[in-house]
Amino acid sequence: MISTSRRKLRTIQLKTETDRDCTRGRVSGPCRRYFGGTDRCGCLPVQSSCIMDMKKKKGKGTGLLKGMAIICVVLAFILAVLLIVGRSGRTGRKAASASTSSASVSSAAAMTSAGREAAASNNQESGQIEGEDDAAPADSAALRLTDADIHKGDLILVNPWNAYDFDANADSVDLVNILDNQSVTYPCDKSDFEIARHVLPHLDEMIAACNAAVGTNETSISSAYRSMDYQQNVWNETVANYGEAYARNYVAVPGYSEHHTGLAVDLGRTASDGTAESFTGSANADWINTNSWRYGFIRRYAEDKASITGCSNESWHYRYVGVPHAYFMYANNLCLEEYIEWLRENTSESAPYTITCDLGTWEVYFTQSRNPACPDEEYNVSGNNVDGYVITVKKN
Ligand SMILES: [Zn+2]
Repeated sequence: MISTSRRKLRTIQLKTETDRDCTRGRVSGPCRRYFGGTDRCGCLPVQSSCIMDMKKKKGKGTGLLKGMAIICVVLAFILAVLLIVGRSGRTGRKAASASTSSASVSSAAAMTSAGREAAASNNQESGQIEGEDDAAPADSAALRLTDADIHKGDLILVNPWNAYDFDANADSVDLVNILDNQSVTYPCDKSDFEIARHVLPHLDEMIAACNAAVGTNETSISSAYRSMDYQQNVWNETVANYGEAYARNYVAVPGYSEHHTGLAVDLGRTASDGTAESFTGSANADWINTNSWRYGFIRRYAEDKASITGCSNESWHYRYVGVPHAYFMYANNLCLEEYIEWLRENTSESAPYTITCDLGTWEVYFTQSRNPACPDEEYNVSGNNVDGYVITVKKN
């Protein structure tokens, strides 16, 4: 909205400048003969010879009194100009001072860690303008989060009750083709499968480790990112083939699919001759179910959580959330809905929860503040797609 308003304002300003140019260029009467050439708005500029000619036509002023009067007018004019310039100079210095102050706040907030740069980037993406936020803190070491940020990040909850916000993520989700960018070779059912760029290395690692552990190269991808149109087609086909009751158990209503996020994949097994094998009950499924947290993935739809997730058991659907969160959910048998609720009820900026596993230590807390303190260490901010933000700080 802010960007749109700015564009409109700029359009109005340009129009005004053009109008002013036109007014300046259009002189009626005898001066028309002195015009030459055209300016950028298509009007004709006044030449200096034209102005001189107009003075000659007014005749000569010769009296001493008249001369003094002219000098007084000129001196008064110069005095007025000096006063105006002096005042605008002071205003300019004030503006420059305010600008410097704002820049120092920005640079302090942007500072050292990748997380801080990401937060600054998020603010730019969401169109937030420095100084526009009434709640902006005087403290330079505070994050500046927006309403749109609630709907972005690795922990956004997308389920039958929480739609994916396409508008909030329009400029921030970076999708890459899996087959073109994978660092290890594994098959995809379709050549155009995409996933969020930052998730692909973790998927590569997980599949490579699974194949090494199981002793085959059969782990494959049977679905990845889905656009709204793609999900609509999946929904329509499932309803047509199996009926709406079945579709509601196994296919998300368009707009409510985790596959919209670019953070989810469906895993499968593909034999060396290209034959699709069952993933459910396979050694691959078992290994990934136990070890996916090490790569930041959770099995999203377990049988005993169906009443909470709104989806039936799916052994193949995995969702990236990041290592500490995946570990905590796995270790405590929580689905994402339960974890989001647990964070809301049990953590705060003043009382973060420490998650420790053999891969590291993190502090995690939920907040609804748009300006929580900026951590001194590497951190990540994710909205929960409901009512706030989850801050994750990597502890050294
Ligand atoms: Zn899926």
